Amino acid sequence: MSIPEQRRIVTTVIPGPKSVKLHERRRAEIADGLGTTMPVFIDRAGGGVLVDVDGNHIIDLASGIAVTSVGASHPAVVRRLTEQAERFTHTCFLVTEYDGFVDVAAALNRLTPGDHAKKTALFSTGAEAVENAIKIARTATGRPAVVVLGHAYHGRTLLTMSMTAKNVPYKQGFGPFAPEIYRAPSPYPYRWPSGPENAAAEGLEALREIVTTQIGANNVAAIVAEPIQGEGGFIVPPPGYLKGVQEFANEHGIVFVADEIQTGLARTGAMFACEHEGVVPDLITTAKALGGGLPLAAVTGRADLMDAVPAGGLGGTYAGNPVACAAALGAIEAIESEGLVDRAREIERRVLPRLAALVGPDSVVGEVRGRGAMLALEFVRPGTRRPAPDVARAVVARCHEAGVLTLQCGTFGNVIRLLPPLVIPMELLDEGVDVLVEAVRSIR
Ligand SMILES: *Cc1c(COP(=O)(O)O)cnc(C)c1O
Repeated sequence: MSIPEQRRIVTTVIPGPKSVKLHERRRAEIADGLGTTMPVFIDRAGGGVLVDVDGNHIIDLASGIAVTSVGASHPAVVRRLTEQAERFTHTCFLVTEYDGFVDVAAALNRLTPGDHAKKTALFSTGAEAVENAIKIARTATGRPAVVVLGHAYHGRTLLTMSMTAKNVPYKQGFGPFAPEIYRAPSPYPYRWPSGPENAAAEGLEALREIVTTQIGANNVAAIVAEPIQGEGGFIVPPPGYLKGVQEFANEHGIVFVADEIQTGLARTGAMFACEHEGVVPDLITTAKALGGGLPLAAVTGRADLMDAVPAGGLGGTYAGNPVACAAALGAIEAIESEGLVDRAREIERRVLPRLAALVGPDSVVGEVRGRGAMLALEFVRPGTRRPAPDVARAVVARCHEAGVLTLQCGTFGNVIRLLPPLVIPMELLDEGVDVLVEAVRSIR
């Protein structure tokens, strides 16, 4: 069913009456702990448009948090998953095997950076992939400690929430947390105390010091980093930092894990964001865009590490579900055959200059940053770097009122992030950005 690729508002306000009614029901039935960015119920979606139950056509600049990079129901995804569902929906790969699981693993072994021998294990969610990367690193090294960065986000399970930096809402009240997790400062260029030009060298120095003096390098199993920090605020590390982490890890037999769950599979204008820096991680976690909308996650990396855990130590009932694997093969096919890595770069070329024009000494936009189709604006009090989450919230609200779905993020809640589907028509993307720019201008 094809959906007209245009913004169309048919109710006097968004959410419209049908969404409001459904939302009331939701409030009665669903736990309050699940938040919602935009309280509209979706009827259909495709390309760059979400159609709500009231008939509003909303421009999607979120992709369900970087998941529907190939669109919400790409024909290749739908065809493959439908065929698979008709053959069988589940066997549990730990019980009997099927080729889709092996095909996805082979694709990831081929697509991830580095030409060394690689292997893959599939899971269902991003948090599960991160947990399993830690299990693998700990078994392979025989060491307990895990080093993560400030502003990190790695998931909502006990271990991954312990690795996550931000307290509210991810950690508040959920402790005690998992032990043996240590945090080095994120080399956040915009907020680095001695200036962005020093962030790489000083960030690496701080990491080295924490590892060698506080923990002892011989106790560290893994250093885990997002090549662009996602929930933390779309923080692009300064050039050279990731390479430095990789070299330091290699020097000390520490497993370097790149959490590419948000950045992976074409999003940043490379198949994997590590490629921008020529970095080859020991292990890479993927999820979000991998399943083309279905829950699928993976750990991919050095075969010697991946094989460290004895049979039975990895897996899960649903891990690498056959329908999700079929969807992933459709998504990967679409990414490769439609040149979506290049599309992400085109999106950057088209959008970034327009956002950059909003930055200025008396502007509420302190910085614009990102790569490919992973772009963000950081809001501050004009003339300072003091975070302005209220301004970000107000801009997001205006976008939503106008039928453009944008998301907030950042440790201080003062960042608006853009994650359009990579297949979004350029005119529709331009229109979404028009609305965003207008919203920012109307506020400052
Ligand atoms: C979303 C995300 C996760 C967690 O993935 P889930 O599928 O929500 O468990 C982990 N790491 C990063 C970088 C993410 O963006």
